[in-house]
Amino acid sequence: MKIEQQKRYRAWAEIDLSALEHNVNVVRGNLPSQTAFMAVVKANAYGHGDEAICKKLWELGVQWFAVSNLEEALAVRSFCPYSEIFILGYTPPEFAPELARNNIIQGVVSTEYAKQLQQFAHQPVRCHLKIDTGMGRIGFRYNTPGDCAAALKPLFGLEKLSIEGVYTHFAVADSMMPNDMMYTNNQQDFIIAIYDKLKESGCPVKHLHFMNSAATILRPNPRATLARVGIVMYGLQPNYMETDIRIPLKPVMSLRSVVSQVKTIQEGDSISYGRMYIAPSPRKIATVTIGYADGYARLLSNRAQAILHGKRCLVVGRVCMDQLMLDVTDVPTEIKPGDVVTMFGTDGNETITADELASIYDTIGYEVVCGISKRVPRDTINCNV
Ligand SMILES: *Cc1c(COP(=O)(O)O)cnc(C)c1O
Repeated sequence: MKIEQQKRYRAWAEIDLSALEHNVNVVRGNLPSQTAFMAVVKANAYGHGDEAICKKLWELGVQWFAVSNLEEALAVRSFCPYSEIFILGYTPPEFAPELARNNIIQGVVSTEYAKQLQQFAHQPVRCHLKIDTGMGRIGFRYNTPGDCAAALKPLFGLEKLSIEGVYTHFAVADSMMPNDMMYTNNQQDFIIAIYDKLKESGCPVKHLHFMNSAATILRPNPRATLARVGIVMYGLQPNYMETDIRIPLKPVMSLRSVVSQVKTIQEGDSISYGRMYIAPSPRKIATVTIGYADGYARLLSNRAQAILHGKRCLVVGRVCMDQLMLDVTDVPTEIKPGDVVTMFGTDGNETITADELASIYDTIGYEVVCGISKRVPRDTINCNV
């Protein structure tokens, strides 16, 4: 694989739209035919850049988009004017007119919030009711589906709310442990029972959704009308360390930087703040123009590897704000300032994934890609395949 050298950048994230297409097709192949694909594009499409991602998804026929807040929803509205946009998180009720005006669907988490929306809205606000069936985060929380359905029923009398769905969110859908699987089964049974009870009591809703990426892959359920797919669309694993989800995903984001200087140091010489790295022998060291201000975590100091000319090299010493150092002693090729370094992604026969970096400092791939900072330009590649 040839890497385009982006001379004007010190660090950039390469966004491979053909990988996105591949992942969407893989996930769609796993979805029941009744279940539509809802692309979760919150947080700037998990750090990938929402504009390019949303436009590509729309081109692929994806019509549903989920975001975390109104600002993100309005951005998606500008990229995909005819899409269905769903806000998973909180919108202050004063913005009810703004929601309605832009045809955005809001998650409603309580009777109190429903009444506030009703109070501020000029025209009906489209919404789905969020049920907390065990995540413990947001939503209507009741001990039985019967109690919950009974509490939801009066909301259908609010004329400024157009209730179109019910949904919940799983806490451990990415786990294969028997207890966790039972927990997820219970959450799923609970939300399906509410959906059915609303229908029986004369308050039918069109949509029912509960699957995230992990559930979409591990336990696709045809009762769902929508599946909220995030991380696997970006080619990362919901639970890289614990559950190996063997589907052929392709990471969409690669993170690249360049060498600014190469030098040789002697045995006993130290590198970077805190002198955490002391050379055990003469070493060749390359300085790379990326650091923790770009979202390359300081916790990767002295632990992670990066790829230069197809060879894995250790990050030596502390990662600085804008720079870090690599031990390039074993790279056989001549190294020059401007040479491209792959922090994660593929170069030659070597690949480092965001999931691999995440496991080094005890987090998840989600946090790695979401954490790539604003000053790192997103460069889309393979736009026309
Ligand atoms: C972020 C989010 C998702 C997507 O989760 P993935 O694990 O990335 O698929 C789905 N539903 C809700 C409510 C979310 O907040």
